[in-house]
Amino acid sequence: MDSFVYKNGKLFAEGVDVETIANEVGTPVYIYSKATFLDHLKKIQTAYAEIDTTICYAIKACGNITILKHLAEAGSGFDIVSGGELFRAQQAGAAGADMSKIVYAGVGKTDKEILEALDTGIGYFNIESEPELENLIALCKKHGHTTKAALRVNPDIKYDSHKHITTGVKETKFGVDIERAQKVFAKYDNNGVVEMSAIHVHLGSGGKTIEPYVNYVKKVLPLVEALRSRGHTIDALDLGGGYGADYQSDTVPSAADYAAGIVPLLRAAKLKLILEPGKSIIANAGIMLTRTVFKKIGGEKTFVIVDAGMNDLIRPCLYEAFHFIWPAAVDEKFVPEKRVKDLTMPGTEVVDIVGPICEGTDYFAKDRAMPTVRRGDLVAVFTAGAYGYTMASNYNARPMCPEVLVDGNKFEVIRRRQTYEDMIALEK
Ligand SMILES: *Cc1c(COP(=O)(O)O)cnc(C)c1O
Repeated sequence: MDSFVYKNGKLFAEGVDVETIANEVGTPVYIYSKATFLDHLKKIQTAYAEIDTTICYAIKACGNITILKHLAEAGSGFDIVSGGELFRAQQAGAAGADMSKIVYAGVGKTDKEILEALDTGIGYFNIESEPELENLIALCKKHGHTTKAALRVNPDIKYDSHKHITTGVKETKFGVDIERAQKVFAKYDNNGVVEMSAIHVHLGSGGKTIEPYVNYVKKVLPLVEALRSRGHTIDALDLGGGYGADYQSDTVPSAADYAAGIVPLLRAAKLKLILEPGKSIIANAGIMLTRTVFKKIGGEKTFVIVDAGMNDLIRPCLYEAFHFIWPAAVDEKFVPEKRVKDLTMPGTEVVDIVGPICEGTDYFAKDRAMPTVRRGDLVAVFTAGAYGYTMASNYNARPMCPEVLVDGNKFEVIRRRQTYEDMIALEK
Protein backbone atom coordinates (compact mmCIF):
# COMPACT_ATOMS: atom_id res chain seq x y z
CA MET A 1 0.00 0.00 0.00
CA ASP A 2 2.69 2.53 0.92
CA SER A 3 6.17 2.86 2.32
CA PHE A 4 5.39 4.40 5.73
CA VAL A 5 6.08 1.53 8.08
CA TYR A 6 6.92 1.12 11.77
CA LYS A 7 10.23 -0.59 12.50
CA ASN A 8 10.90 -1.37 16.14
CA GLY A 9 8.18 1.10 17.08
CA LYS A 10 9.60 3.95 15.00
CA LEU A 11 7.91 5.30 11.90
CA PHE A 12 10.01 5.12 8.75
CA ALA A 13 9.42 6.68 5.37
CA GLU A 14 11.06 4.06 3.12
CA GLY A 15 14.53 3.77 4.70
CA VAL A 16 14.45 7.02 6.67
CA ASP A 17 13.37 7.42 10.31
CA VAL A 18 10.92 10.33 10.17
CA GLU A 19 12.34 11.67 13.45
CA THR A 20 15.59 12.39 11.61
CA ILE A 21 13.68 14.55 9.15
CA ALA A 22 11.81 16.38 11.92
CA ASN A 23 15.06 17.09 13.75
CA GLU A 24 16.77 18.39 10.65
CA VAL A 25 13.93 20.22 8.89
CA GLY A 26 11.54 21.01 11.75
CA THR A 27 7.79 20.53 12.00
CA PRO A 28 5.19 20.65 10.64
CA VAL A 29 6.50 19.03 7.47
CA TYR A 30 5.06 17.05 4.58
CA ILE A 31 7.04 13.89 3.82
CA TYR A 32 6.53 12.03 0.53
CA SER A 33 7.73 8.59 -0.52
CA LYS A 34 8.93 8.45 -4.12
CA ALA A 35 8.65 4.65 -4.27
CA THR A 36 5.00 4.86 -3.22
CA PHE A 37 3.74 7.30 -5.86
CA LEU A 38 5.79 5.63 -8.60
CA ASP A 39 4.35 2.29 -7.54
CA HIS A 40 0.80 3.64 -7.70
CA LEU A 41 1.44 5.07 -11.17
CA LYS A 42 2.99 1.80 -12.33
CA LYS A 43 0.00 -0.20 -11.10
CA ILE A 44 -2.36 1.99 -13.14
CA GLN A 45 -0.12 1.74 -16.22
CA THR A 46 0.00 -2.04 -15.90
CA ALA A 47 -3.73 -2.41 -15.26
CA TYR A 48 -4.67 -0.54 -18.46
CA ALA A 49 -1.77 -1.73 -20.63
CA GLU A 50 -4.07 -3.64 -23.02
CA ILE A 51 -5.64 -0.47 -24.44
CA ASP A 52 -4.21 2.87 -25.58
CA THR A 53 -4.22 4.78 -22.29
CA THR A 54 -2.83 8.17 -21.33
CA ILE A 55 -2.48 8.79 -17.62
CA CYS A 56 -2.76 12.47 -16.77
CA TYR A 57 -1.89 12.94 -13.11
CA ALA A 58 -4.07 15.70 -11.60
CA ILE A 59 -1.63 18.38 -10.51
CA LYS A 60 -4.12 19.95 -8.15
CA ALA A 61 -3.75 16.98 -5.80
CA CYS A 62 -0.06 17.75 -5.15
CA GLY A 63 1.89 19.97 -7.49
CA ASN A 64 5.46 20.07 -6.24
CA ILE A 65 7.57 20.26 -9.38
CA THR A 66 10.11 17.68 -8.19
CA ILE A 67 7.28 15.19 -7.80
CA LEU A 68 5.88 16.17 -11.21
CA LYS A 69 9.29 15.58 -12.78
CA HIS A 70 9.52 12.08 -11.32
CA LEU A 71 6.00 11.26 -12.52
CA ALA A 72 6.72 12.66 -16.00
CA GLU A 73 9.91 10.61 -16.24
CA ALA A 74 7.83 7.54 -15.41
CA GLY A 75 5.50 8.32 -18.32
CA SER A 76 2.73 10.36 -16.76
CA GLY A 77 0.99 13.28 -18.45
CA PHE A 78 -0.89 15.92 -16.47
CA ASP A 79 -4.38 17.15 -15.82
CA ILE A 80 -4.34 20.90 -15.19
CA VAL A 81 -7.00 23.35 -14.06
CA SER A 82 -5.24 26.73 -14.29
CA GLY A 83 -2.49 28.70 -15.95
CA GLY A 84 -0.43 28.22 -12.80
CA GLU A 85 -0.70 24.47 -13.09
CA LEU A 86 0.27 24.71 -16.76
CA PHE A 87 3.38 26.57 -15.64
CA ARG A 88 4.14 23.81 -13.14
CA ALA A 89 3.68 21.19 -15.85
CA GLN A 90 6.10 23.13 -18.04
CA GLN A 91 8.74 22.91 -15.32
CA ALA A 92 8.31 19.16 -15.42
CA GLY A 93 8.28 19.46 -19.21
CA ALA A 94 11.74 20.93 -19.11
CA ALA A 95 12.69 17.54 -17.71
CA GLY A 96 11.12 15.80 -20.68
CA ALA A 97 7.37 15.75 -20.04
CA ASP A 98 5.29 15.48 -23.18
CA MET A 99 3.07 18.57 -23.40
CA SER A 100 0.66 16.75 -25.70
CA LYS A 101 -0.16 14.57 -22.69
CA ILE A 102 -1.78 17.50 -20.91
CA VAL A 103 -5.52 17.88 -20.53
CA TYR A 104 -6.98 21.13 -19.31
CA ALA A 105 -10.21 21.14 -17.26
CA GLY A 106 -12.02 23.92 -15.43
CA VAL A 107 -15.27 25.83 -15.78
CA GLY A 108 -13.74 29.31 -15.87
CA LYS A 109 -10.65 29.32 -18.09
CA THR A 110 -9.67 32.91 -18.88
CA ASP A 111 -8.46 34.11 -22.30
CA LYS A 112 -4.96 34.54 -20.90
CA GLU A 113 -4.90 30.97 -19.61
CA ILE A 114 -6.33 29.57 -22.85
CA LEU A 115 -3.73 31.35 -24.96
CA GLU A 116 -0.90 30.14 -22.73
CA ALA A 117 -2.17 26.57 -23.14
CA LEU A 118 -2.57 26.96 -26.92
CA ASP A 119 1.00 28.27 -27.17
CA THR A 120 2.23 25.24 -25.24
CA GLY A 121 0.41 22.78 -27.49
CA ILE A 122 -1.48 20.79 -24.88
CA GLY A 123 -3.39 17.63 -25.78
CA TYR A 124 -7.02 18.45 -24.97
CA PHE A 125 -9.15 21.24 -23.66
CA ASN A 126 -11.90 19.69 -21.59
CA ILE A 127 -14.88 21.85 -22.43
CA GLU A 128 -17.38 22.51 -19.67
CA SER A 129 -19.95 24.72 -21.45
CA GLU A 130 -21.05 26.08 -24.81
CA PRO A 131 -19.87 29.65 -24.14
CA GLU A 132 -16.45 28.23 -23.28
CA LEU A 133 -16.31 26.29 -26.54
CA GLU A 134 -17.36 29.36 -28.55
CA ASN A 135 -14.63 31.36 -26.87
CA LEU A 136 -12.00 28.70 -27.54
CA ILE A 137 -12.96 28.57 -31.21
CA ALA A 138 -12.84 32.37 -31.46
CA LEU A 139 -9.41 32.55 -29.80
CA CYS A 140 -8.01 29.81 -32.06
CA LYS A 141 -9.24 31.64 -35.15
CA LYS A 142 -7.91 34.98 -33.98
CA HIS A 143 -4.47 33.68 -33.04
CA GLY A 144 -4.02 31.02 -35.71
CA HIS A 145 -4.14 27.96 -33.45
CA THR A 146 -5.72 24.56 -33.75
CA THR A 147 -6.35 22.16 -30.87
CA LYS A 148 -8.33 19.16 -29.71
CA ALA A 149 -11.22 19.22 -27.28
CA ALA A 150 -13.22 16.80 -25.19
CA LEU A 151 -16.75 17.71 -24.23
CA ARG A 152 -17.39 17.16 -20.55
CA VAL A 153 -20.76 15.56 -20.10
CA ASN A 154 -22.73 15.03 -17.00
CA PRO A 155 -24.12 11.50 -16.87
CA ASP A 156 -26.12 12.33 -13.75
CA ILE A 157 -25.20 9.33 -11.66
CA LYS A 158 -25.28 9.71 -7.91
CA TYR A 159 -22.93 7.85 -5.64
CA ASP A 160 -21.93 7.77 -2.05
CA SER A 161 -19.51 10.55 -1.19
CA HIS A 162 -19.39 13.89 0.56
CA LYS A 163 -21.67 16.47 -1.07
CA HIS A 164 -18.84 18.94 -1.60
CA ILE A 165 -16.84 16.53 -3.75
CA THR A 166 -19.60 15.03 -5.89
CA THR A 167 -19.41 16.56 -9.37
CA GLY A 168 -21.09 14.15 -11.81
CA VAL A 169 -24.72 15.00 -11.03
CA LYS A 170 -27.01 17.51 -12.70
CA GLU A 171 -27.12 20.25 -10.16
CA THR A 172 -23.36 20.97 -10.17
CA LYS A 173 -21.64 23.62 -12.27
CA PHE A 174 -19.53 21.07 -14.20
CA GLY A 175 -20.07 19.83 -17.75
CA VAL A 176 -23.01 19.71 -20.14
CA ASP A 177 -26.06 17.52 -19.51
CA ILE A 178 -25.74 14.32 -21.49
CA GLU A 179 -29.00 15.06 -23.35
CA ARG A 180 -27.55 18.32 -24.70
CA ALA A 181 -24.25 16.85 -25.85
CA GLN A 182 -25.47 15.82 -29.31
CA LYS A 183 -26.76 19.32 -29.97
CA VAL A 184 -23.41 20.79 -28.99
CA PHE A 185 -21.57 18.51 -31.40
CA ALA A 186 -24.06 19.24 -34.21
CA LYS A 187 -23.66 22.98 -33.71
CA TYR A 188 -19.89 23.26 -33.29
CA ASP A 189 -18.25 20.19 -34.82
CA ASN A 190 -17.32 21.76 -38.16
CA ASN A 191 -15.60 24.83 -36.80
CA GLY A 192 -12.27 24.23 -38.55
CA VAL A 193 -9.97 24.88 -35.59
CA VAL A 194 -11.09 22.86 -32.57
CA GLU A 195 -11.27 19.13 -33.25
CA MET A 196 -14.02 17.70 -31.06
CA SER A 197 -12.92 14.11 -30.76
CA ALA A 198 -13.43 13.01 -27.16
CA ILE A 199 -15.91 12.83 -24.34
CA HIS A 200 -14.88 13.69 -20.80
CA VAL A 201 -16.58 12.65 -17.59
CA HIS A 202 -15.37 13.10 -14.04
CA LEU A 203 -17.05 11.50 -11.11
CA GLY A 204 -15.70 13.75 -8.41
CA SER A 205 -13.62 12.37 -5.63
CA GLY A 206 -14.26 9.62 -3.21
CA GLY A 207 -15.66 6.72 -5.22
CA LYS A 208 -15.25 3.61 -3.11
CA THR A 209 -16.51 1.05 -5.64
CA ILE A 210 -16.01 0.48 -9.34
CA GLU A 211 -19.75 0.51 -10.18
CA PRO A 212 -20.11 4.28 -10.72
CA TYR A 213 -17.24 4.16 -13.22
CA VAL A 214 -18.65 1.24 -15.13
CA ASN A 215 -22.07 2.91 -15.10
CA TYR A 216 -20.51 6.10 -16.40
CA VAL A 217 -18.94 4.30 -19.31
CA LYS A 218 -22.19 2.46 -20.01
CA LYS A 219 -24.12 5.69 -19.99
CA VAL A 220 -21.62 7.46 -22.27
CA LEU A 221 -21.15 4.69 -24.87
CA PRO A 222 -24.61 5.14 -26.45
CA LEU A 223 -23.77 8.84 -26.84
CA VAL A 224 -20.50 7.92 -28.56
CA GLU A 225 -22.38 5.56 -30.89
CA ALA A 226 -25.01 8.19 -31.68
CA LEU A 227 -22.34 10.78 -32.41
CA ARG A 228 -20.39 8.41 -34.62
CA SER A 229 -23.51 7.47 -36.57
CA ARG A 230 -23.92 11.14 -37.39
CA GLY A 231 -20.42 11.34 -38.72
CA HIS A 232 -18.58 12.75 -35.71
CA THR A 233 -15.18 11.20 -35.06
CA ILE A 234 -14.98 10.26 -31.41
CA ASP A 235 -11.81 8.34 -30.61
CA ALA A 236 -11.21 8.88 -26.89
CA LEU A 237 -12.98 8.78 -23.58
CA ASP A 238 -11.51 10.72 -20.69
CA LEU A 239 -12.78 9.06 -17.54
CA GLY A 240 -11.50 11.73 -15.16
CA GLY A 241 -10.21 11.02 -11.67
CA GLY A 242 -11.67 10.29 -8.28
CA TYR A 243 -10.40 6.71 -7.91
CA GLY A 244 -10.29 5.82 -4.27
CA ALA A 245 -7.22 6.03 -2.08
CA ASP A 246 -6.85 3.98 1.08
CA TYR A 247 -7.48 6.58 3.77
CA GLN A 248 -8.28 3.49 5.80
CA SER A 249 -6.41 0.28 5.07
CA ASP A 250 -7.76 -1.85 2.21
CA THR A 251 -11.04 -0.02 1.73
CA VAL A 252 -10.94 0.87 -1.97
CA PRO A 253 -10.67 -1.08 -5.22
CA SER A 254 -7.23 -1.51 -6.77
CA ALA A 255 -6.27 -0.11 -10.16
CA ALA A 256 -6.64 -3.66 -11.51
CA ASP A 257 -10.19 -3.89 -10.15
CA TYR A 258 -11.19 -0.67 -11.89
CA ALA A 259 -9.48 -1.76 -15.12
CA ALA A 260 -11.27 -5.12 -15.10
CA GLY A 261 -14.59 -3.29 -15.29
CA ILE A 262 -13.55 -0.53 -17.69
CA VAL A 263 -11.09 -2.01 -20.21
CA PRO A 264 -13.44 -4.51 -21.94
CA LEU A 265 -16.02 -1.77 -22.56
CA LEU A 266 -13.45 0.61 -24.04
CA ARG A 267 -11.84 -2.08 -26.18
CA ALA A 268 -15.20 -3.11 -27.64
CA ALA A 269 -15.98 0.52 -28.45
CA LYS A 270 -12.50 1.10 -29.96
CA LEU A 271 -11.90 4.10 -27.75
CA LYS A 272 -8.61 5.39 -26.41
CA LEU A 273 -8.67 6.05 -22.69
CA ILE A 274 -7.51 9.05 -20.73
CA LEU A 275 -7.37 8.86 -16.93
CA GLU A 276 -6.86 11.75 -14.52
CA PRO A 277 -5.92 10.14 -11.21
CA GLY A 278 -4.88 12.48 -8.41
CA LYS A 279 -5.26 11.11 -4.95
CA SER A 280 -5.06 7.45 -5.97
CA ILE A 281 -1.44 8.21 -6.90
CA ILE A 282 -0.33 10.67 -4.26
CA ALA A 283 -2.58 10.47 -1.16
CA ASN A 284 -0.89 7.49 0.45
CA ALA A 285 2.50 8.69 -0.69
CA GLY A 286 2.53 11.52 1.83
CA ILE A 287 2.25 12.11 5.55
CA MET A 288 2.20 15.32 7.51
CA LEU A 289 4.46 15.16 10.52
CA THR A 290 3.68 17.46 13.42
CA ARG A 291 4.90 17.91 16.99
CA THR A 292 2.82 17.96 20.15
CA VAL A 293 2.95 21.43 21.70
CA PHE A 294 0.68 20.86 24.70
CA LYS A 295 -1.75 18.43 26.11
CA LYS A 296 -4.76 20.04 27.71
CA ILE A 297 -7.62 18.61 29.73
CA GLY A 298 -10.84 20.61 29.27
CA GLY A 299 -14.02 19.32 30.90
CA GLU A 300 -14.47 15.73 29.78
CA LYS A 301 -12.05 16.07 26.92
CA THR A 302 -8.35 15.69 26.39
CA PHE A 303 -6.86 17.84 23.66
CA VAL A 304 -3.57 17.12 21.95
CA ILE A 305 -2.51 20.50 20.56
CA VAL A 306 -0.03 20.09 17.72
CA ASP A 307 2.11 22.57 15.79
CA ALA A 308 0.25 22.00 12.50
CA GLY A 309 -3.05 23.73 11.88
CA MET A 310 -5.91 23.79 9.40
CA ASN A 311 -3.80 26.16 7.32
CA ASP A 312 -1.37 23.26 6.77
CA LEU A 313 -4.00 20.54 6.22
CA ILE A 314 -7.59 21.65 5.75
CA ARG A 315 -9.28 18.41 4.67
CA PRO A 316 -10.79 17.46 8.06
CA CYS A 317 -12.24 20.96 8.43
CA LEU A 318 -13.37 21.26 4.80
CA TYR A 319 -14.71 17.78 4.06
CA GLU A 320 -14.86 16.14 7.48
CA ALA A 321 -12.18 13.94 5.97
CA PHE A 322 -10.70 11.07 7.96
CA HIS A 323 -6.95 10.84 8.43
CA PHE A 324 -5.36 8.11 10.46
CA ILE A 325 -3.19 9.77 13.12
CA TRP A 326 -0.62 8.01 15.28
CA PRO A 327 2.52 8.92 17.20
CA ALA A 328 5.74 8.51 15.21
CA ALA A 329 7.43 6.55 18.00
CA VAL A 330 5.44 4.02 20.02
CA ASP A 331 5.88 1.07 22.26
CA GLU A 332 6.08 -2.09 20.14
CA LYS A 333 2.64 -3.15 21.37
CA PHE A 334 1.11 0.00 19.89
CA VAL A 335 2.34 -0.50 16.34
CA PRO A 336 -0.94 -0.26 14.38
CA GLU A 337 -1.75 -3.29 12.28
CA LYS A 338 -4.23 -1.38 10.18
CA ARG A 339 -5.09 2.25 9.75
CA VAL A 340 -8.79 2.27 10.44
CA LYS A 341 -11.29 4.62 12.05
CA ASP A 342 -12.10 2.64 15.12
CA LEU A 343 -8.79 1.15 16.03
CA THR A 344 -9.29 -0.01 19.58
CA MET A 345 -6.19 -1.06 21.43
CA PRO A 346 -5.99 -1.54 25.16
CA GLY A 347 -4.00 1.25 26.79
CA THR A 348 -4.79 4.01 24.29
CA GLU A 349 -6.53 7.21 25.35
CA VAL A 350 -9.31 9.08 23.58
CA VAL A 351 -8.29 12.57 22.51
CA ASP A 352 -9.09 15.41 20.13
CA ILE A 353 -6.11 16.31 17.97
CA VAL A 354 -6.25 20.02 17.23
CA GLY A 355 -4.14 22.83 15.83
CA PRO A 356 -3.20 26.22 17.29
CA ILE A 357 -5.42 28.37 15.05
CA CYS A 358 -8.15 30.64 16.33
CA GLU A 359 -11.03 28.72 14.72
CA GLY A 360 -13.27 26.04 16.16
CA THR A 361 -12.83 24.06 12.93
CA ASP A 362 -9.09 23.75 13.46
CA TYR A 363 -8.99 20.06 14.25
CA PHE A 364 -7.54 16.91 12.70
CA ALA A 365 -9.49 14.31 14.65
CA LYS A 366 -12.15 14.15 17.34
CA ASP A 367 -12.60 11.45 19.99
CA ARG A 368 -9.76 9.42 18.56
CA ALA A 369 -8.04 6.58 20.41
CA MET A 370 -4.28 7.04 20.33
CA PRO A 371 -1.33 5.97 22.47
CA THR A 372 -0.50 8.62 25.05
CA VAL A 373 1.67 11.45 23.77
CA ARG A 374 3.58 14.05 25.71
CA ARG A 375 4.75 17.54 24.91
CA GLY A 376 7.40 17.31 22.18
CA ASP A 377 6.27 13.95 20.79
CA LEU A 378 5.95 13.61 17.03
CA VAL A 379 2.58 12.68 15.57
CA ALA A 380 2.04 11.50 11.97
CA VAL A 381 -1.07 12.39 10.00
CA PHE A 382 -1.27 9.66 7.35
CA THR A 383 -2.54 9.76 3.76
CA ALA A 384 -1.91 13.50 3.57
CA GLY A 385 -0.21 13.58 0.16
CA ALA A 386 -3.29 14.70 -1.79
CA TYR A 387 -5.00 18.05 -1.26
CA GLY A 388 -2.72 18.61 1.70
CA TYR A 389 0.06 20.99 0.83
CA THR A 390 -1.82 22.26 -2.26
CA MET A 391 -4.63 23.58 -0.10
CA ALA A 392 -2.35 25.07 2.56
CA SER A 393 -2.33 28.79 3.25
CA ASN A 394 -0.70 31.50 5.33
CA TYR A 395 -3.76 31.91 7.55
CA ASN A 396 -2.83 33.34 10.97
CA ALA A 397 0.42 34.46 9.31
CA ARG A 398 1.83 30.98 9.60
CA PRO A 399 4.67 30.29 7.17
CA MET A 400 4.02 27.47 4.68
CA CYS A 401 5.69 24.30 5.88
CA PRO A 402 8.39 22.45 3.92
CA GLU A 403 8.03 19.40 1.70
CA VAL A 404 10.53 16.56 1.86
CA LEU A 405 10.95 13.72 -0.62
CA VAL A 406 12.30 10.39 0.57
CA ASP A 407 13.99 8.07 -1.90
CA GLY A 408 15.33 4.89 -0.31
CA ASN A 409 17.72 5.84 2.48
CA LYS A 410 18.01 9.45 1.36
CA PHE A 411 15.79 12.47 1.74
CA GLU A 412 15.83 15.94 0.25
CA VAL A 413 13.92 19.13 0.93
CA ILE A 414 11.94 19.74 -2.27
CA ARG A 415 10.40 22.93 -0.95
CA ARG A 416 11.94 24.83 1.91
CA ARG A 417 9.98 26.29 4.80
CA GLN A 418 8.76 29.81 4.16
CA THR A 419 10.40 32.53 6.23
CA TYR A 420 8.56 35.48 7.73
CA GLU A 421 10.27 37.60 5.06
CA ASP A 422 8.96 35.31 2.28
CA MET A 423 5.49 35.79 3.69
CA ILE A 424 5.53 39.57 3.31
CA ALA A 425 7.72 39.75 0.21
CA LEU A 426 4.88 40.78 -2.12
CA GLU A 427 3.49 43.48 0.17
CA LYS A 428 4.19 47.16 -0.05
C1 LIG B 1 -9.84 16.95 -9.12
C2 LIG B 1 -9.92 16.35 -10.46
C3 LIG B 1 -9.22 15.17 -10.74
C4 LIG B 1 -8.45 14.38 -9.70
O1 LIG B 1 -9.31 13.86 -8.73
P1 LIG B 1 -8.74 12.80 -7.66
O2 LIG B 1 -9.90 12.58 -6.76
O3 LIG B 1 -7.61 13.44 -6.95
O4 LIG B 1 -8.35 11.58 -8.40
C5 LIG B 1 -9.27 14.70 -12.04
N1 LIG B 1 -9.97 15.34 -13.00
C6 LIG B 1 -10.67 16.48 -12.75
C7 LIG B 1 -11.41 17.12 -13.85
C8 LIG B 1 -10.66 17.02 -11.48
O5 LIG B 1 -11.36 18.13 -11.23
